[in-house]
Amino acid sequence: MNQIQLDISIVKNLQHGNMIRNHLPESINLHITKSCNYHCKFCFAKYSFMQKELTLNQWLGIIDEIASNGCKKVNFAGGEPTLVPFLPDLIEYAKKKGLFVSIISNGTGISKNFLDRCGIFIDLIGLSIDSSNMSVEKALGRAVRNENSSTPYSHVKVIREKAKWIHDYNIPLKINTTITPLNWKENMQELIRELKPIRWKVFQVHKIFGINDGFFKEFGELTTEQYYNFINRHQELNPQYETSNMIRDYYCMITPDGRFYQDTNNHHNYSDSVLEIGVLNAFKQVAFSEDKFNQRNACYFRELLKSKNTKLWR
Ligand code: SF4
Repeated sequence: MNQIQLDISIVKNLQHGNMIRNHLPESINLHITKSCNYHCKFCFAKYSFMQKELTLNQWLGIIDEIASNGCKKVNFAGGEPTLVPFLPDLIEYAKKKGLFVSIISNGTGISKNFLDRCGIFIDLIGLSIDSSNMSVEKALGRAVRNENSSTPYSHVKVIREKAKWIHDYNIPLKINTTITPLNWKENMQELIRELKPIRWKVFQVHKIFGINDGFFKEFGELTTEQYYNFINRHQELNPQYETSNMIRDYYCMITPDGRFYQDTNNHHNYSDSVLEIGVLNAFKQVAFSEDKFNQRNACYFRELLKSKNTKLWR
């Protein structure tokens, strides 16, 4: 992108209500791989059209650059980030740069080896689970691909086991749940109490055209009333709720091939490569709502850092 194109892009962002900023948001999601061993039908973290993924050294360079430009927290995501062999190196490096380090995982790659290798550098592990019922998880696609075993695969069982290990290693646990037409009537209180997360984030399923709209054709739309019905049923557990509207323009994310992206207007919009134009110029090419970011307590991690002795419910 030349300077004129960059200026046009910046003006477009101003029209989106975006401020021109000379620093990055405090929290950035690094989607380090497009690979996943699950096939969740509502997943919008899909990048199948991307030709390449960044190398370890390229990610280390990006971590250097974002840490020098205002970022305080990185969340390693995917796809499934534990499928990346050099994830432990990234975690250790980011921690040694002084960042708050979290990962979000479907749990399958959270092994004792993994926790032995890099658990000491991790401030928070997020696990995703949407139902206490393994057949609902299976219908959603939260299950391994090409399952050959005669025993039915249970994502619920995986999460129960991995949550226990995470507690054993004294790492704070977060749970992410996505509400869809298949689970909005459910009561997950018992399971969530058992898993003991310090934070339970509950998303309204979010449509991205060209990525997951097939899910909505198959299962229908989830109304906002249905979503809040689930939230109200679980108020006692203080779920951190995010409707589809709140999610839009809120997260700061980098793709497996090194571009910022945003889900403005239910489409993914991508910047040029941060390797080519630098993180600040690339960030200016996508929309980002600082107001939403601040309103949604996105910097909760500061409180978590202050008190390593975290209580169960906040
Ligand atoms: S586990 Fe996560 S990344 Fe993998 S398909 Fe499901 S939602 Fe997408």
